[in-house]
Amino acid sequence: MSPSAPSLRSSRRTANHGPPSCLEHHRQPLNVYCVQDRQLICGFCLTVGQHQGHPIDDLQAAFIRERQAPAHLLGRLSDHRWAEVCELGELLSRRRPAVRA
Ligand SMILES: [Zn+2]
Ligand SMILES: [Zn+2]
Repeated sequence: MSPSAPSLRSSRRTANHGPPSCLEHHRQPLNVYCVQDRQLICGFCLTVGQHQGHPIDDLQAAFIRERQAPAHLLGRLSDHRWAEVCELGELLSRRRPAVRA
């Protein structure tokens, strides 16, 4: 067993546009936010994956909330992950200027 970092499946084909896709479910956009695990998940994660039955939140709401969250909570998000959330949040707010729940 080598202690090397877990190899993320490098998806070279993924261009720098559109939402990030799920690592576990190929080509599924991460468009759901799992409140319990504080991470972005896809629809499959929620319905048939390891996030079954977990409370979820609107991505934009989560984006705003996480932004205001204490630093120790943000520590659980890797920089990369966090950047994705920020990017996605901005993307959403641009696409839909006024979302009403
Ligand atoms: Zn997934
Ligand atoms: Zn979860």
